Amino acid sequence: MDYITDSKTQWIADELTALREQGLYNTIRTVESPMDAHIVIDGGHVINMCANNYLGLANHPRLKDAAKRAIDEWGIGPGAVRSIAGTMSLHIQLEQRLAEFKRAEAVITLQSGFAANLAAIPALVGKGDVIFSDQLNHASIIDGCRLSRAAIVAYEHNNVDDLRRKIAETTEYGRRMIITDGVFSMDGDIAPLPELYEVAREHQIMLMVDDAHGEGVLGRGGRGIVDHFGLHGKVDVEVGTMSKAFGVVGGIVAGSQVIIDWLRQRGRPFLFSSAMTVPDVAACLEAVDMLEGSDELVQRLWNNASFFKQEMKALGFDIGSSATPIVPVMLGEAATAQAFSRRLLERGVFAMAIGYPTVAKGKARIRVMNSAAHSQNDLEQVLSAFETVGKELKIIA
Ligand SMILES: *Cc1c(COP(=O)(O)O)cnc(C)c1O
Repeated sequence: MDYITDSKTQWIADELTALREQGLYNTIRTVESPMDAHIVIDGGHVINMCANNYLGLANHPRLKDAAKRAIDEWGIGPGAVRSIAGTMSLHIQLEQRLAEFKRAEAVITLQSGFAANLAAIPALVGKGDVIFSDQLNHASIIDGCRLSRAAIVAYEHNNVDDLRRKIAETTEYGRRMIITDGVFSMDGDIAPLPELYEVAREHQIMLMVDDAHGEGVLGRGGRGIVDHFGLHGKVDVEVGTMSKAFGVVGGIVAGSQVIIDWLRQRGRPFLFSSAMTVPDVAACLEAVDMLEGSDELVQRLWNNASFFKQEMKALGFDIGSSATPIVPVMLGEAATAQAFSRRLLERGVFAMAIGYPTVAKGKARIRVMNSAAHSQNDLEQVLSAFETVGKELKIIA
């Protein structure tokens, strides 16, 4: 190849070499099977403890059938952005069903949770405004905040007193907004939403929660963090995703009718990027149907998670203070976590090592994602692999 810029991109090649030398190059593995409890990865069969497929819906027969039927009836692509010709009655139906499911006034769907944050935040605050943002918020919240051009004031993680201090110190502002993740994906802890709501109400500040890891997991039958805390009609903006527990892909913003109407007018990923595809929408509708019909999968997820956590503690692992099915197995140095993950894989267990810069230095871990898809036997095999490798590496006695 002879790209015009070859001589100008040498710095990128150098950076990539440096990442490889430092062991920080992100090697992306290829999955050669459907996403499920068991997957084929780089040719090997493994138990999958990495996916956000909390309810095992990513390869569920009911969702697959719904998607196939919808393709026969509606085709595949929406053909345009939603404001021009890409809104089908399917999209409207999904939004209505989600609003009922979550007991919100209205819902707008977007292509992903990432797109939902990029749509919502810049539409609601702008130059001269201020956002109070939990310091551990997800990258898509951070990018949404930056795009909005509002001032960003980070407060200490889940620290309501620090938030109050930051609000008191910030005297120049137009509009104000508090934004937090619902479930923090690296530690599995939950935002203190009732306290945040009290602060927001007291100071008349708009409150937004991104419940990507709580959608389909927290609340009655997986109705999310607002339902979990009984704050229906109180949290101004609830962002969610259908890319995790729902097993498909897509973003959600739930809130008052006026906010959702506004996002249809001013949400840029809504206006300038095409709609969710037909099979995605149909599969999401089926997921809502399933969750409304039964909480069996959500129960199984939580039962699996509590069994796994209890056994890991009994083995002597430090599993942090997760309040959700996310289990961080704390290992310290990034190299230890990577070695641990490699040895697990040799024993047929796929669990990802996470280190700096995703988490702080010295806080490297293996993050285990529980799912309703795992059988008791799967979990016992995973525990046994953790026990063996933990002893080999002298993490546990
Ligand atoms: C995963 C995640 C997203 C992104 O969701 P996608 O639908 O995959 O784009 C956004 N916010 C948070 C907090 C997340 O954990």
